[in-house]
Amino acid sequence: MSWVDDYTNSLMKSAPTPGALLVRGEGCYVWDVDGKRYLDFLGGIAVNSLGHAHPVLVKAVSEQVASLVHISNLFASPQQIELAQTLTRITGAGSQGRVFFGNSGAEAIEAAIKLARRNKQHGTIIALENSFHGRTTGSVSLTGKPALREDFEPLLPQVSHIASTIEALEAAMTHDVAALVVEPIKGEAGVIPLPDGYLQRARELCTEFGALLIIDEIQTGAGRTGTWFAYQQAGIVPDAVAIAKGIGGGVPIGALVTFGAASDLFTKGQHGSTFGGNPLATGAAIAVIGEIERAGLIENAAVRGPQIRAAIEGLPLVASTRGAGLLIGIVLTEPVATEVAATALQLGLIVNAANDSSLRIAPPLIVGGAEITEFVSLLTTALEAHA
Ligand SMILES: *Cc1c(COP(=O)(O)O)cnc(C)c1O
Repeated sequence: MSWVDDYTNSLMKSAPTPGALLVRGEGCYVWDVDGKRYLDFLGGIAVNSLGHAHPVLVKAVSEQVASLVHISNLFASPQQIELAQTLTRITGAGSQGRVFFGNSGAEAIEAAIKLARRNKQHGTIIALENSFHGRTTGSVSLTGKPALREDFEPLLPQVSHIASTIEALEAAMTHDVAALVVEPIKGEAGVIPLPDGYLQRARELCTEFGALLIIDEIQTGAGRTGTWFAYQQAGIVPDAVAIAKGIGGGVPIGALVTFGAASDLFTKGQHGSTFGGNPLATGAAIAVIGEIERAGLIENAAVRGPQIRAAIEGLPLVASTRGAGLLIGIVLTEPVATEVAATALQLGLIVNAANDSSLRIAPPLIVGGAEITEFVSLLTTALEAHA
């Protein structure tokens, strides 16, 4: 029996087929059970901000495990308070900001949905077509991919999915809207940015109609796009931002940060999570954020992203690239993304086929010149195989 059989015979049938059995990682590389090395340009889908086995994260987690892992929300920990203060600082929410901690992106979105209910209990939540907000019942209700929703209906009522245009938003906005939930760049859809000016217009309309502007930065946040959060490049302030993936560097954590008056919507006892904000996960996120700042990794994302895109554009099968910083979509001229990703894996390169005709890469924020050179060489070979 191979590990594939063991996997298939034990994991829930909803699981995708895994590409390799990984046993170890270091920096931008992982190794499988046979000792084969892979250059990881997906970073656990925008999660491993510091790469694998980064000494700063290893130390923070090891020391925290040896001290205090879990205490429940009946008690506070210095790590939880420090991370909440840090998140209100880096989001720009400031002293009016408040933080809810969960354990995943979907939980951050669930908190956002309840926040929207608190804003207008019977109001509509607007989300975008082709968006991704998670797989739990609430978050999948917002997800704009019918294939992910249909088998589980009825889902949340009063969610409307609109096209990702300013005109569609203007047409949809009324006083019944409780919240607009958007990704600044749709990661799962193949790294598709919102149209220019969208977030600014969304801010105006949400303010005018009393709707919350909730930004899902679960994939784009934690410095990946060249600023702490992508909305900061639009110069706007949301009412809430959902954070997860890269902020814990691989240790599961999710957070919802509220801004201004939205911070007063929840009252004592209205929301909670047993594991949320535990000292292990919050200590890990403090270490990740600290290292991103110390090592200048946001600047690295801002510089390396364009470098990677310049090197990719002009390769066989490549029509264009899109995204920001180190969240990059590669649009192909033929619907062979799945085949290219499979060939890349054989060659020892991890990339993701977001759909038939686009690849997604989200390398660790520590990525350097040598890894980019190796990436371009491996990707070129993989593309040539299908051109
Ligand atoms: C991954 C993701 C989610 C869901 O996060 P989970 O941790 O898988 O629950 C939600 N929104 C966006 C934009 C994501 O990329």
